[in-house]
Amino acid sequence: MSAHQVLTPELLERIRGRAADYDARNEFCYEDLDELQAAGYLRALVPAEYGGLGWNFPTLVQAQRLLAAYAPATSLSVNMHHVWVAVARQMVAGGAGEFEQVLTEAAEGHIFAFGISEAGNDAVLFDSTTQAQTHDDGSVTFTGTKIFTTLAPVWTRLGLFGKDVAATGAEDEKPLIFGFLEREVAGWHTVENWDMLGMRATQSHATALEGARVPAERIVRRLPVGPNADPLVFAIFSSFLTLLAAVYTGLGDRAVELGAQHVAARTALSTGESLDRDPDIRYKLAEAHLQQLALEAQLRQIASDVEAGADHGTGWFPRLVALRTSATRTARAVLDTALGVSGGAQYHRTSELSRLYRDALAGVHHPSDDESAHRTLANHLLGPLN
Ligand SMILES: Cc1cc2nc3c(=O)[nH]c(=O)nc-3n(C[C@H](O)[C@H](O)[C@H](O)COP(=O)(O)OP(=O)(O)OC[C@H]3O[C@@H](n4cnc5c(N)ncnc54)[C@H](O)[C@@H]3O)c2cc1C
Repeated sequence: MSAHQVLTPELLERIRGRAADYDARNEFCYEDLDELQAAGYLRALVPAEYGGLGWNFPTLVQAQRLLAAYAPATSLSVNMHHVWVAVARQMVAGGAGEFEQVLTEAAEGHIFAFGISEAGNDAVLFDSTTQAQTHDDGSVTFTGTKIFTTLAPVWTRLGLFGKDVAATGAEDEKPLIFGFLEREVAGWHTVENWDMLGMRATQSHATALEGARVPAERIVRRLPVGPNADPLVFAIFSSFLTLLAAVYTGLGDRAVELGAQHVAARTALSTGESLDRDPDIRYKLAEAHLQQLALEAQLRQIASDVEAGADHGTGWFPRLVALRTSATRTARAVLDTALGVSGGAQYHRTSELSRLYRDALAGVHHPSDDESAHRTLANHLLGPLN
């Protein structure tokens, strides 16, 4: 099934039609997820031999961008699931069979959430405040707090990691343990604290882990603390940053579209002409369009380079953080323009542009944040400080 057969115009319009309500009620996008699941969208990237639709990564990236233009929070929600599937697809293609479970379970209908972030953990993937304890049977229990767990009300598998501070022998070199927690096990609960400015329908509550047990067969990787070249690190960064950029690109697409619609519908009293004939307004929207098109080129290129396994060497991480930074910055910039030219009515709390503006602000808080992205870029250009 192609992307157009899955994300049909009718489905997309229904999703757009519900977005304002989810936002106003601070409610998870349940119906959207049900419909996307029924349409096969959650197994889009799963290879056909595992029971999926067999899309490639650039196709999913464009689909996520399109979905975000209809409902950014819904797109960001399913993004977290797609990230794990994209990671697993990359890892399995590289020979890491332990990730096959993600592909088969996604094909069966499981929903994967991304339990990585911890409050104040600016090392992101390279260290963890969550304690992991390895048991004799190879299972691992996790204790700590994951924050911003998008899909909190519905996930059935939580991809997470923690640090085994008591690791001994060969394992003390690799204390960071990654695995997939099943929702039905005991030892965790959702801390319902999602009442945010934007991206409200993601319901990214915190997750308290209190000895939540992941069996040995669901432990997929052990990594050292600190930056390292394990394929999982690249798989997570490349999948996450590119898909995240897709969401914010779609948000910007919609902002420009709305800006163009609003100015065409407004007439200046002084000239009697619609504002889309006003040279200053035209220049501003043209500038927003320019920014979106530059971002589009960047997004398409990185998505196909990830798919092709392009060899950018040490230039990969600068390219990925540059894309993520461009996407979230551009979303905010074009929304600024769109709100400015569209008139005061769009400042109303219930206007779509106003909601998109709030959603776009969430872009500030995703890894790699602005400081981290610039550290990566400066290190690549100027060499590390120490
Ligand atoms: C819309 C959105 C969705 C995201 N989805 C995901 C996701 O699915 N998976 C993921 O790994 N990361 C996700 N991120 C998280 C993000 O990537 C950052 O990690 C996060 O923005 C904040 O990190 P911080 O260090 O600034 O947090 P801090 O400012 O230190 O804390 C942020 C919030 O976390 C909560 N919190 C902190 N400590 C506790 C505690 N002990 N108990 C309960 N709650 C606590 C509080 O609500 C606090 O306001 C998402 C971010 C955004 C904006």
